[in-house]
Amino acid sequence: MRAPTGNTDSGTAIHASKGNTDIGTGVQAATGAAGAQPREGRLDSFGTTIFAEMSALALSTNSINLGQGFPDTDGPPEVLQAAARAIVEGRGNQYPPGPGIPELRRAISAHQRQQYGLDLDPDVEVLVTVGATEAIAAAILGLTLPGDEVVMFEPYYDSYAATIALGGARHRSVTLQPDGGRWSFEPDELRRAITAQTRVILLNSPHNPTGTVFNRAELTLIAELAREHDLIVVTDEVYEHLIFEGEHIPMATLPGMAARTVTISSAGKTFSVTGWKVGGVSAPAPLLNRIRAVKQFLTYVGSGPFQYAIAEALEAATDYRAIAEQLRTRRDLFTKGLAELGYSVHIPAATYFATIDVGGQAEAWCRALPGRAGVVAIPSRVFYDSDIDRYVRFAFCKRPEVLAEALDRLGKMSA
Ligand SMILES: *Cc1c(COP(=O)(O)O)cnc(C)c1O
Repeated sequence: MRAPTGNTDSGTAIHASKGNTDIGTGVQAATGAAGAQPREGRLDSFGTTIFAEMSALALSTNSINLGQGFPDTDGPPEVLQAAARAIVEGRGNQYPPGPGIPELRRAISAHQRQQYGLDLDPDVEVLVTVGATEAIAAAILGLTLPGDEVVMFEPYYDSYAATIALGGARHRSVTLQPDGGRWSFEPDELRRAITAQTRVILLNSPHNPTGTVFNRAELTLIAELAREHDLIVVTDEVYEHLIFEGEHIPMATLPGMAARTVTISSAGKTFSVTGWKVGGVSAPAPLLNRIRAVKQFLTYVGSGPFQYAIAEALEAATDYRAIAEQLRTRRDLFTKGLAELGYSVHIPAATYFATIDVGGQAEAWCRALPGRAGVVAIPSRVFYDSDIDRYVRFAFCKRPEVLAEALDRLGKMSA
């Protein structure tokens, strides 16, 4: 599963790359084809993402796909209409400005002020990206050099390890463990993971896949360590508005942290339009400059008309609770149903995802699930460096009738 490049005296395994090849679809050089083949690629050990593989399996078995986290109903009609209007009215059909259209940068700045009291100059402290995915890539590539280390928490969003490997940096993971209904980490494990090479702590709260919202004590500890070791915190807050219990506390609001924090958001998640790929970064100007320098050569720009629609949506939105409320109903329906079927369920306080604990061999369990039940789920093992293979992640951001049908199928599942 994993390809550690050596253990160190700090006790945390260090990862230059992460092999998913036992998932079965590692990229292989074509044999017998005419023409040159690269002998080795930077990301060979990552293979095809599990999501592509499981989505293909869902299609071929006619399964309900609770693997990938995207809603099966589109965002608010007025937001959709704003995008259609932008296209027809000729706004954003040609390359928008490199840092993002001013309207959207101002709207992101206003959002951060209204929601969290953060003060950002939209001209030099806000950047629009092609989804949070590009924001993560530009931040990691812009803020690390080969040999630098990034500390992050496992299970983790799959692009993190790949992006870190792309730039030649390495990562160390601190393991989140279930702890009285939520997931948390051992402070000492985090302390040990930080070395002289560490540049960045990469944080994700609310957290995918566990659904945990980091609390003030956890964030304070991370912030203290970041200040003590002069680290940058890159914080992936794409689920900031999809919270059912608890409060989202942006890292940048902690004392002294705005000056060293890079905050990443995703309008796709906030407004249920994941295909639009509109993300945002806010950071102090010296950090944002580095990130923008990378972003301009990744995509240059993207999502032109959608930027206008999201700017309008952010300006019009005063209450983000409606989408979370709808999602909460779906969470309750699905997690209650799983519990009634006898599964050991971790109930998430946020996000699109619920986790069950099948005790072991979760990957094999997931591979067999489409055939046995006509349902697709993701083995959380792919989100770990450690050999932890007991958790299964289901996405519940689906219509209630789809969730009910999935539960029905799971209930009838052959042994
Ligand atoms: C969905 C997701 C992203 C990617 O967001 P996009 O805006 O679709 O690129 C990043 N981080 C986490 C934790 C996610 O779940």
